[in-house]
Amino acid sequence: MFNRSRRNLAHWFTLSMGSILILFAGVVYYQRAVDCLEVTDRLLYRKTGVMAANIDYRSEQGQEVVDLSNVPILGNYAPPVGSNLVYARWYSATGTLRQFYGMQPPEQLQYTAAFETLRPNAVSDNAQDTAWLRQLTLPVTHNGRRLGYLQVAVPLTEARADLHELLRVLLLAVPLTLGGIGLVGWCLSGLAMRPIRESYNQLQRFTSDASHELRAPLAAILSNAQVGLLSPIEAGQPKHLRLKKIAAAAKSMNTLVSDLLFLARQAGRLDPTSLQPVNLNGLLKDTIVTAPVQLAAQHLTLHLALPDEPILIHGNADLLRQALTNLLINACKYTQAGGTVWLRLIGQYHRTVIQVEDTGIGIPASDLPHIFERFYRVDEERTRETGGSGLGLAIAQQIVEAHGGRLTATSIVGEGSLFQIELPLL
Ligand code: ADP
Repeated sequence: MFNRSRRNLAHWFTLSMGSILILFAGVVYYQRAVDCLEVTDRLLYRKTGVMAANIDYRSEQGQEVVDLSNVPILGNYAPPVGSNLVYARWYSATGTLRQFYGMQPPEQLQYTAAFETLRPNAVSDNAQDTAWLRQLTLPVTHNGRRLGYLQVAVPLTEARADLHELLRVLLLAVPLTLGGIGLVGWCLSGLAMRPIRESYNQLQRFTSDASHELRAPLAAILSNAQVGLLSPIEAGQPKHLRLKKIAAAAKSMNTLVSDLLFLARQAGRLDPTSLQPVNLNGLLKDTIVTAPVQLAAQHLTLHLALPDEPILIHGNADLLRQALTNLLINACKYTQAGGTVWLRLIGQYHRTVIQVEDTGIGIPASDLPHIFERFYRVDEERTRETGGSGLGLAIAQQIVEAHGGRLTATSIVGEGSLFQIELPLL
């Protein structure tokens, strides 16, 4: 129980911290991408600006002429050393290509946005062209008149290499940090569970000690009442009836104390060295013929359904018999005369299922989630009729869980209940 809670705590801690970490890594990556692009854009804008500043505009024989001869790269000047421009293009105000440097451009300007990121092969069909490009299309104006468009592109190789490097670091650092977080979570949840474990152990010890101490006086009360009943008092006399009541009350308290002692002592998983191979077919056959079950089932039909193949598990036969007895006695107790109770054993691929089904009064849906709690009884009226302390199902569940199994219940009021034990196979 504690290990499961510790695992859950560590799991949720890792999950929440991990999500924050991954989110943070995502934000860092995104921010770096934005920064890289900003640096590239600033550089591209500066270069394009220098080119645009060198464009001349004059009127020749009544015609307006744009002179690009002084424009670096596009004009007569050779590209400056170290320039990484992939292409430069000049389009007229109507968007027709006039001059270009670099790869063959489209004849007509395809203007979508000032800055644009172009995927490899988006600007040419050349299969070798694998570089991502950043392109700026700058409208050039003179005295409020549009002269044309200058389109320039630079490769994004450096920025992408920078981002790849960051991604590599993040891909290595995030899983490592996640592992660290998991480890820290496991240690922290261990620390958090310690006081809970201690107070639980204290409670268990108290229950165990109190039950143990109560056993002796109870046994004394019971034996005295039984001796008193043996002495010659006429049956039906008030004294005789009182002694009978004392003996009955002492007996039920004795059962209650034994149940409490059992619950306090039998906590957690069973020690694997104490487990024996148990033949469930034989165990079910033995349980159904025991005196308490037969007594409870006097007014009912009891069916046993076993598979042909024997089913073996690792477990403690006495404890499993106790769990089954509790379920069978309940099924009989809460089923009216003439009803039917089935005990089934089903072998499945990786587990074994034992079912106790009855055609009894059923359990309301609102009570179903609570019936395995200690001292929980569905309603006082039915308990007054049938007796019971509300510990039977808690004990059965504790035994099943001690075997690494699961006990579940489904029920329909007025139609019956089905209790199912799932156990891992040998
Ligand atoms: P008790 O000893 O009072 O029967 P249990 O822990 O065995 O305590 O059961 C808890 C409650 O669940 C009971 O009060 C009873 O109302 C209900 N219950 C258990 N088994 C059945 C069943 N087969 N059919 C109907 N009600 C059941």
